[in-house]
Amino acid sequence: MTSTEAADCLFCKIVAGEIPADVVASNDRAIAFKDIDPQAPVHVLVVPREHHGDVSVLAASDPELLAAVVGLADQVAGELADGQYRLIFNSGPRAGQSVFHVHGHVISGAQLGWSPA
Ligand code: AMP
Ligand code: ZN
Repeated sequence: MTSTEAADCLFCKIVAGEIPADVVASNDRAIAFKDIDPQAPVHVLVVPREHHGDVSVLAASDPELLAAVVGLADQVAGELADGQYRLIFNSGPRAGQSVFHVHGHVISGAQLGWSPA
């Protein structure tokens, strides 16, 4: 484990290649892989390679890394769909966050509804 990984973090293990994932795009700062439980025709998770638990903390501490995550999300939506997408960062358990390594959900490939409740 390097200093940029967190123990027992699922997405750090995917970044490290210790747990398999269906990787659809990557660059030196972030990787994108298919969600194991897709909620739309395109449902991809984009995660920074470094472990960060909280998107708002990442925005303050390393805005360029968060911008790299958003940029890779946009790339994936252009490659796997028509470039129109929803990008969701669940923040906190009541918002649905279950993995505490920053990740954006790229949701695309269909006309999307608007009812998170
Ligand atoms: P969140 O609930 O916002 O923290 O999102 C976590 C997402 O990770 C969920 O949509 C899960 O379906 C997804 N997920 C959990 N385990 C895996 C896995 N091994 N590979 C890909 N996606 C996963
Ligand atoms: Zn992690």
